[in-house]
Amino acid sequence: MPELPEVEVLRRSLEPRLIGRRIERVEVRSPALREPLDRRTLRRRLEGRAIVGLRRRSKYLLIDVEGDSTLVVHLGMSGRLTVAPSGAPVEAHEHLAIDLAGGERLRLRDPRRFGVAFAAATAGLLERDPHFVRLGREPLSPPLTGSELAALAGGGRGPVKTFLMDAGRLVGVGNIYATESLFRAGIHPARSVARIGAGRWERLAGAVVGVLEQAIREGGTTLNDFADGTGQPGYFQVSLAVYGRDGEPCPRCGGRIRRLLQSGRSTFYCPACQR
Ligand SMILES: [Zn+2]
Repeated sequence: MPELPEVEVLRRSLEPRLIGRRIERVEVRSPALREPLDRRTLRRRLEGRAIVGLRRRSKYLLIDVEGDSTLVVHLGMSGRLTVAPSGAPVEAHEHLAIDLAGGERLRLRDPRRFGVAFAAATAGLLERDPHFVRLGREPLSPPLTGSELAALAGGGRGPVKTFLMDAGRLVGVGNIYATESLFRAGIHPARSVARIGAGRWERLAGAVVGVLEQAIREGGTTLNDFADGTGQPGYFQVSLAVYGRDGEPCPRCGGRIRRLLQSGRSTFYCPACQR
């Protein structure tokens, strides 16, 4: 499932290929996504307009066009947004095809159909649209600090890992990234947020930013592959220190890495290094 780093790398890889390009035609080939594609609005808001910017909010990609319109895309579980030659054969599960002046096609494929694509007014989109209003802070822009993280957790008592993954407070920290961040910060995943001091919040904020930036950097080495659709979906091969390494030696102390279940999700940690 694409996570924040994958979407950010996709944004960076598409940006130079899309900015300034005019959308000639929008074709909805198969509207059945999580939210059915609205052919009329997509055409009305996008056709004939040039692309002026690509932004990201959480795992949504926002493609801004002239005249106060934005195409919003979420890749769901299995979506791929790629640029193909305009004459390329239509592929299976190609839901949306956007022909660009100059002869290329931006296409959204989504075999499992959990994705979302819609067009809306740019003004007020992030502030008022129901997809965005409840989203928490972006971890990278600007980089999260320890005091902000402590404030976001303020008043809570639950386990820190559950807090990190709560998109209503902080977006983009999925299971793997939360697990790795807690290892880097030396914090036990089950520790209550009420029992974390300022210094440890600072370390944790730095770890979250560091893990996400590393994933973007490592994924960024395959930028063009992403826009061409040949890049591998799913998690980048960040050097995972503990995730999935139940029973293996801890890279820091040599002790044994353990697994525990939290809210039905696997968490991996070193009982000696994480307190
Ligand atoms: Zn250890």
